[in-house]
Amino acid sequence: MGQSRPADQAGLRRGNLALLVRTLREHGALSRAQLAVRSGLSKATVSSLVTDLEARGLVHDAGISAGGQGRPGQLVDLRPDSVCGVGLDVHVGHVGAFVTDLGGQVLFQRRVTADVPGMGPEKTLDQLAQLAAEAMAELKNAVGVTVSVPGLVDTAAGTVTFSPRLRWRDVAVADGLAARTGLALDRIVVDNDANLGALAEQADSDVADLVYLTGDFGIGGGVIAGGRLVRGSIGFAGEIGHMAMDPLGPYCSCGRRGCWETQVGLGALLHACADPDDPIRDPGLDLDQRMRMVRARAEQHDRRTLDALHQIGTALGLGVSFLVNLLNPAVVVLGGYFAALPEWLVEPIRNQVVAHVLAPGAGGARVVGSRLGFTAATTGGALASLRRVLDDPTVVPVIQTAEEPEEAPA
Ligand SMILES: [Zn+2]
Repeated sequence: MGQSRPADQAGLRRGNLALLVRTLREHGALSRAQLAVRSGLSKATVSSLVTDLEARGLVHDAGISAGGQGRPGQLVDLRPDSVCGVGLDVHVGHVGAFVTDLGGQVLFQRRVTADVPGMGPEKTLDQLAQLAAEAMAELKNAVGVTVSVPGLVDTAAGTVTFSPRLRWRDVAVADGLAARTGLALDRIVVDNDANLGALAEQADSDVADLVYLTGDFGIGGGVIAGGRLVRGSIGFAGEIGHMAMDPLGPYCSCGRRGCWETQVGLGALLHACADPDDPIRDPGLDLDQRMRMVRARAEQHDRRTLDALHQIGTALGLGVSFLVNLLNPAVVVLGGYFAALPEWLVEPIRNQVVAHVLAPGAGGARVVGSRLGFTAATTGGALASLRRVLDDPTVVPVIQTAEEPEEAPA
């Protein structure tokens, strides 16, 4: 065995710390002996790593294991409130924030109606920074902020390359937010809304092959294949809303014609459902409220609403069949506005999928409504922020004080 360099040693230790955190997250409280068995590490290594995690405040003693095989041992568990992740959301019609801790407790959730394309990037970032400050005012242990944006995102640069829906081009979101909030730039990540939604759905469903669709004014796709998010060669995968379904069709926000989102986007549904003066089409009303109105009409068998939903579901199903032929997912999750209306959308989708997918039984693909709805992107953002700790627990600093810190005066 050769002499390892210090850099390798540090990397190895980080990897092992991450392994223990993930093992505890999966199994709950375990003794050091059980952790050694589950992780394949020696007891001495586990003891040293647990001491490190304790020093960072990530784990604590959780009583003595009772019964079972072997000697009773002191249990170790994650401290659920030790760190939290922040998800921020820039949407066509609102900005939002969502904060959750390692144990999944929701600490903050808010959405503010805003005309983002009308306000432009600078004012939007002002409003987002204000919301971030509000969300993080009470937090001492946020590990990072992840901003969700619809469109093409250069995650390495923290820049929105192009968002037709927001009418943004080359907007430096991470820089802008860092300048406004004082947050360190390396704690801010910017990502596509559908990618983050897919991560949230994966955490919710525990499936390795999943396609997530954002049902919004724009349509985006987040693809998880073999347990990993598919980003493509330069990070722009999943722009399924711009599949050209009808080259002679109506104009899309991207400037082309007949994109899938012109057929199944929220604009298409609202247009098919209601006349311009109908409150369903009032952009000043909250989207959830407008979706409740659509639902209520469908439940009362309103003919126009049912026809509109059937039309959307059929067009949705044709595009979904392309994705199922291509990717053979275990599940296709309908997010955003689709999630408010699965009773009327899933059947026409299934009919199209069965008609157009080669694999028998549609390759086992299920089509389901998301339980997260419009909150998937911010939930995914908060989870992506927490994932920094799960991948590398050393991003959480060692707590310097030897004694329990006293309650700081207000
Ligand atoms: Zn388009």
